[in-house]
Amino acid sequence: MNYLLSPHEIEIQAKAREFAQTHVAPYVDELDREERFPVEILAKMSKEGFLGAFFPKEYGGTGGGVMDLCLVTEEIARVCCGVSTSYAANALATFPILLFGTEEQKKKYLTPVAKGEKYAAFGLTEPNAGSDAGGIQTTAVQDGDYYVLNGSKQWITNGGEAGIYTVFTMTDKSRGARGITAFIMEKETPGFGYGKKESKMGIRCSATRELSFQDCRVPAANMLGKKNMGFLVAMKTLDMSRPGVGAEALGVSQGVVDKVLDYISSASKEQRFHTSFQAIQGKLAELSTLVEASRALVYAVARAVDAGEQDLAVGSAMSKMFATDVSVKAAALAMEILGEDGARRDMGLEKMFRDAKITQIYEGTNEIQKGVIALGLVRSHRKKK
Ligand SMILES: Cc1cc2nc3c(=O)[nH]c(=O)nc-3n(C[C@H](O)[C@H](O)[C@H](O)COP(=O)(O)OP(=O)(O)OC[C@H]3O[C@@H](n4cnc5c(N)ncnc54)[C@H](O)[C@@H]3O)c2cc1C
Repeated sequence: MNYLLSPHEIEIQAKAREFAQTHVAPYVDELDREERFPVEILAKMSKEGFLGAFFPKEYGGTGGGVMDLCLVTEEIARVCCGVSTSYAANALATFPILLFGTEEQKKKYLTPVAKGEKYAAFGLTEPNAGSDAGGIQTTAVQDGDYYVLNGSKQWITNGGEAGIYTVFTMTDKSRGARGITAFIMEKETPGFGYGKKESKMGIRCSATRELSFQDCRVPAANMLGKKNMGFLVAMKTLDMSRPGVGAEALGVSQGVVDKVLDYISSASKEQRFHTSFQAIQGKLAELSTLVEASRALVYAVARAVDAGEQDLAVGSAMSKMFATDVSVKAAALAMEILGEDGARRDMGLEKMFRDAKITQIYEGTNEIQKGVIALGLVRSHRKKK
């Protein structure tokens, strides 16, 4: 399929594809088995400019946007979704700064991430607030020129590895979601701590950790956006970053198609596939069509973000939900196509299956995306009337 990529997009896609084959593929099994954070790979990615791919040039980036992020993420996830998650989490964590930061905050906090000097993490989820993000309990209380943070976050990607954190806190409990305020916090802040790396079924090399705040004094100047507007900061950020999760899932799906085609095309299998396996042909046709539909949706939404479209919630949620659901289905169909060989660990499909399943959960479960889509559609229909 031709997605009419620009010469720049074709270049960055080819560069990321080559990078993934050379610098990621040889380590996939090891990283998964040892659950090791891919710090060496991320360092190489930053040298290639991939960490800066979604930042404007004035903040150390290459001037690309969400489409560039998606193209790189897709190619890396095609080989290892754990590495792509560690990479794309930097976008999730810095989009709040890009969207709501002051000029000073952007210069100070985006530049080191764009250059790969520091990684970033996005801290919203808490032990009692996942889907219900408005129910967070971490507090921030003003004390002169500082806010004092107390509480904890859990399941934070790049937690502990990141030097920069965008953290969501409650500044006015009586207002619920309208009492949330976002801050930028540095790892070295006294009172900030993190727990051990979660051991996960998939994307095992990515670091997911609990964060804790005990009387953490964060300068009031690090507030992101206005006081009590943090929920809006979080939602606008997710609208911008969800196509990136779609791209991760798309990469996994494409990786699945690659493996199936390699397998079927091998000399011993091809004849059997041509002559007697019509049902299996049907599965390959269904699988590859779903993958192209994911790509069309993810790229369309990424382009809408970069074009400055404001009403992104519905399309963004659709791209995340569709592409992640497809990745799980793709991995399952591929395992059926390969039969017993699909279940072999060294075939790599079982890892893709484990990785795909997790993409349905983070940045809002797909049940939550359905709510965003349905309510968003009704709202815009009412507006048009
Ligand atoms: C690998 C991984 C990485 C993550 N990284 C980050 C990160 O970097 N930063 C961060 O802040 N968070 C992160 N998270 C947390 C993630 O965003 C939450 O797990 C997710 O939002 C769901 O929250 P929960 O796990 O508390 O589930 P719950 O909210 O407890 O939901 C449990 C189940 O109920 C369903 N449900 C809940 N409410 C509704 C509803 N209103 N309608 C329909 N169904 C509903 C959910 O879909 C789910 O199936 C990560 C999670 C994982 C697994």
